[in-house]
Amino acid sequence: MVIASRLNLADFPDSRYAAELQRASPAMPFAPQLEAEYVRSHLVYSQKLIRTACAFALLLMVLRGVEQAVTVPWYESLLGPLGLVLAISAVLTWTAWSAFFERFYLPWAQIIVPIRNSIVAVNIAEIAARGQMELLMILPIMLIGPFFFLGLKFRAALISGALTVASYGASAFFFGLALPVLLRSCTFLLVALIACAIAARQMEMWSRTCYLKNGLTAELAQVDALTGAKNRRVFDERLGKLWQQAAGDRRTIAVLLLDVDHFKAYNDRYGHQAGDRALRRVAQTAQAFIRRPLDVFARYGGEEFAAILYDVNESQAQHIADQVRSAVEALAIEHLGSGTSAAVTISVGVAVIEPSRERNSRGVLQLADQALYEAKMKGRNIVKIMDEAEYRFLVTGAFTTRSDGLRKRS
Ligand code: GH3
Ligand code: MG
Ligand code: MG
Repeated sequence: MVIASRLNLADFPDSRYAAELQRASPAMPFAPQLEAEYVRSHLVYSQKLIRTACAFALLLMVLRGVEQAVTVPWYESLLGPLGLVLAISAVLTWTAWSAFFERFYLPWAQIIVPIRNSIVAVNIAEIAARGQMELLMILPIMLIGPFFFLGLKFRAALISGALTVASYGASAFFFGLALPVLLRSCTFLLVALIACAIAARQMEMWSRTCYLKNGLTAELAQVDALTGAKNRRVFDERLGKLWQQAAGDRRTIAVLLLDVDHFKAYNDRYGHQAGDRALRRVAQTAQAFIRRPLDVFARYGGEEFAAILYDVNESQAQHIADQVRSAVEALAIEHLGSGTSAAVTISVGVAVIEPSRERNSRGVLQLADQALYEAKMKGRNIVKIMDEAEYRFLVTGAFTTRSDGLRKRS
């Protein structure tokens, strides 16, 4: 969070989090998709609190039912408002504790909580009008709960609170509660509702801002600061995951290693800063060709980039690699010390294989590296592809349990 507040947010035009952080009011809902993600994460984060609060509310109702049973036959109290409130509380508690929590709790709670609390408010007003005042103490809890314990969104909690106060006021008047008591209790409840609303608004703004800053910080941890491409850590992690996925789906994976030609000479001639600018342009150019959802483009280290293309055959991988290579050349970044061309160029090593569960992803990287080496040897500014046949001869990437290792080497 501290990191995010020290950054210039305008430097991250692609970040949804930075875009929201730049808006005037953090209390407004985010763009639809981010809003849905925020609501879900907030709900999951509050799950334990919600479950406990629902269970306590149910327990209170049950205790009230037991208390009632002493004076009124149980079937009478269960057929009255208490029975309805008990049923509603039981449904809410069940939803909170069930596997359907994420899907159903919030839509349910937004309807059920105001109804339940209003019924309870009417019931309390009736009892108070009969001279039994101590249950009035429950009313403020019913205002606080929706804001802070039951996970309701701000507007829903406010509506619930307003309905509770209105139901109480109207029914207390209807049942003939003494006017001074009615006025005092309604004033107190309104003040409590406003205080809850202000505090809840502040907390929501803080929670939303934290969410955005955390999101931006997590994004930054994945990105190479110079080029804006994903960093090596993300590449390694995604390669491992895609490897497993491709092995399961029996799909291919292509790994591309892209290396800028004669880049040391470029730095020597044009300076390190010009080198940085050239790297940035090469990265942006290559990234434009690697945009499918599962594909990854990353800075692998120094002047070397790496890409994963999911489910492509050799000719498709070759085609994309060629497009990137010629697009970089077409940038026409002057490089008179190159020896290969008058402009900055790249060499690309490509490996396309269908992963298997007996081997890990290091083999495909070694193959792509070998292909890159051959591209360099053959004169640079070219694409060299290695296929499945060559992959079988590699020892790298084989899992080395003792028996496995022996079997593979024999
Ligand atoms: P080859 O065609 O064989 O790849 O030759 P090369 O000169 O590109 O390869 P070499 O590995 O000898 O040099 C890589 C150079 O890349 C050296 C280093 O100064 C430069 N380099 C690596 N990272 C950066 C960077 O972030 N910015 C700049 N400006 N240069 C970098
Ligand atoms: Mg190089
Ligand atoms: Mg290199």
